[in-house]
Amino acid sequence: MYPEPEYSRPWLKLLAQKGWSVPLWPKEWGGTGWSPLERFIFEHECAQAGAPLVHPMGVRLVGPVILRFGTQEQKQEYLPPIARGDNYWCQGFSEPGAGSDLASLRLQAVREGDHDVNEVFFDDVRVPIRQRIGAEGQGWDCAKYLLEFERGAGIYSPRLRSGFKRVGLMLQTLDSKTDSIHSKAQLVRKFGEVSTDLDTFEMLELQTLMSIGSSASLGDVSYILKLRASRLKQSIGDLGVVAMGEQALRWTPGPARLQTADELQLLTQTVLGDYLNSRAYTIFGGASEIQLGIIARAACTTD
Ligand SMILES: Cc1cc2nc3c(=O)[nH]c(=O)nc-3n(C[C@H](O)[C@H](O)[C@H](O)COP(=O)(O)OP(=O)(O)OC[C@H]3O[C@@H](n4cnc5c(N)ncnc54)[C@H](O)[C@@H]3O)c2cc1C
Repeated sequence: MYPEPEYSRPWLKLLAQKGWSVPLWPKEWGGTGWSPLERFIFEHECAQAGAPLVHPMGVRLVGPVILRFGTQEQKQEYLPPIARGDNYWCQGFSEPGAGSDLASLRLQAVREGDHDVNEVFFDDVRVPIRQRIGAEGQGWDCAKYLLEFERGAGIYSPRLRSGFKRVGLMLQTLDSKTDSIHSKAQLVRKFGEVSTDLDTFEMLELQTLMSIGSSASLGDVSYILKLRASRLKQSIGDLGVVAMGEQALRWTPGPARLQTADELQLLTQTVLGDYLNSRAYTIFGGASEIQLGIIARAACTTD
């Protein structure tokens, strides 16, 4: 989903040197003061250049929560190292029995994880009071605020477009007798459908960004963006794998290395990696069914 720290941290440090690591934050804490459109253009250029994704936990999720709920001392302690890429954050919400139904969490304290990415158990962890963000009992408000960022404020379409471009390149390598069970004409038609969906999504995202002005939070529309981006990510991944046909079965995981692999091999690895990655999109940050429930309730409230 996100690049390993060995790739994303050096990239964040490079961005920090330019003053571009935390564009969403207020200028006094290192923000760029860019308009939403400027942020979009920056993301677009990074995606086109194949730059790694910035790991969002500190910069995009935890940082905004500290900015809103943290004390001045906490801001001074935590925000500069996040902006410099000196530390690495995770968020530990989900529990057996409390994934989608986050409100039934039993955990009473939170700490940074180690490695073993999916299961971390916390027993008798003691957290100094000065590290608690927000007032006592306000943890749920902080968590919900963070999720607004996880579910929407990420600007999805530039990365979706670069993934889609790779699928287009993959299609170009096929002759009319493809390895796929689908004919090239069928694949091209599907490509057209996904292309239209992507254009529509990009317009929605741009329209949303333009409408929020300088606010960092998207509010309820974040659920719609998360839902649609997840579906698009999977449509693009599915199309890439179908186009690859049986080549997809021969793929072996591992970092794609430009200097050793020929271009098609690299493309195959990346498209398949995108596909495997796409499976998680309809689960993390709240499964699609949960987003649909929230959107339905929001629609009923506004009627
Ligand atoms: C790649 C990845 C990264 C993740 N990263 C993190 C992380 O950094 N921190 C963290 O805390 N967690 C993380 N998670 C966990 C993630 O948030 C949960 O997996 C997710 O919320 C779903 O919870 P669950 O797995 O318990 O499934 P369940 O909640 O048991 O859901 C199972 C199925 O039932 C459906 N369902 C459940 N309730 C309803 C309902 N009310 N209405 C309709 N359908 C429903 C769901 O949509 C799903 O299809 C990550 C997960 C993945 C896959």
